[in-house]
Amino acid sequence: MKPVYLDYAATTPMDERVQDAMQEAARLFFGNPSSVHSLGQEATAAIRKARLEVAALIDAEPEDIFFTSGGTESDNALIKGIFFDRKRRELPCHIVTSVIEHSAVRESCGFCKWMGADVTAIPVDSDGVVEELAFAAALRADTALATIMLANNEVGTLEPIEELAALCRARNIPFHTDAVQAVGHIPISVKKLGVDALSFSGHKLYGPKGIGVLYLRRGVSVYPLLEGGGQERGMRSGTENVPAIVGLGEAARLARENMQQEMVQLESFQKYLQSAINEIEGTFQNGGALKLPGNFNFGIHGIASEDLLMRLDIEGFAVSAGSACNAGAVEPSSVLLSMGRSPAEALESIRVSMGRFTRRKELEDFVGTLQRLAREMRQ
Ligand code: PLP
Repeated sequence: MKPVYLDYAATTPMDERVQDAMQEAARLFFGNPSSVHSLGQEATAAIRKARLEVAALIDAEPEDIFFTSGGTESDNALIKGIFFDRKRRELPCHIVTSVIEHSAVRESCGFCKWMGADVTAIPVDSDGVVEELAFAAALRADTALATIMLANNEVGTLEPIEELAALCRARNIPFHTDAVQAVGHIPISVKKLGVDALSFSGHKLYGPKGIGVLYLRRGVSVYPLLEGGGQERGMRSGTENVPAIVGLGEAARLARENMQQEMVQLESFQKYLQSAINEIEGTFQNGGALKLPGNFNFGIHGIASEDLLMRLDIEGFAVSAGSACNAGAVEPSSVLLSMGRSPAEALESIRVSMGRFTRRKELEDFVGTLQRLAREMRQ
């Protein structure tokens, strides 16, 4: 039997319609988009079409969309790109970020710090929401960038991006958001949010892995991470991955088409899990009310998530924990610790993430198995 997949926040299965579009693109559009002959121009046209779909998904101008290799590259390109640009102009560089960012943002900021930038990481409250007052207080005359994620990948908390971006706009500070977990799942308009840059990734919205987007508003000065042939208007050199770009375009089209219906479905699943898991003795939930519809993070006192995940896997359920396994030792999630959870609670927490292909019956089976395992493991 196929395992029940409840790990959509880690990655999503590729939609069959995306697979079909990619296969066709690989067959038909093999020309190099930089070639002037018609085969090259057909590939260019396929990229242009995908760029329009992607731009429409986040309400951006197509000229502000840059294809990258994924969320990690988009985050690196933007953060390091701003730092390099400041360095080139011999300007100081202060970066404001949060304590709950994905490692792609956290480590990029760490790299800039190592290279001489000053970095301030803003704390979060017990729901995982970035503290607005602390954020405003951290902005300085030499702040070159603020980067705060739109939705957290462990607890699904939605951050007050519109408010934070407005604080930056009033001070002329570029604002970037890592929206990898959110794009394709909730409505997003870069115009309404007022952000200057936004990252997202194909494999989190039923598209292919190894493709992502950096939205960058014109006028924001960023030094490109990759030098070379000058593709993507000089922002991202390297021959374009045409099938993956076409796949992402199709994934973006499908996301727009299905989003409203999927949100309603996932919200009802989330409510179901919330009340069903509440019934299990000794459970606690992580994250506040304002979160991504498909995400549910919880723990059971006295049961290590590592053991529970293994038992669930044997029973046919693919679920993850927020804790990272480093050289054999399980570390408590820094996100949960910064929300005020104890190390023990953080090591008892697991994340259930649902998506397009989740069925209510699968969740009922999951809850039943969890109830049984919790009983058995306690004894
Ligand atoms: N940012 C967030 C919030 C993520 O959840 C992820 C992936 O898990 C990434 C960045 C990295 O994206 P990618 O896997 O496309 O490099």
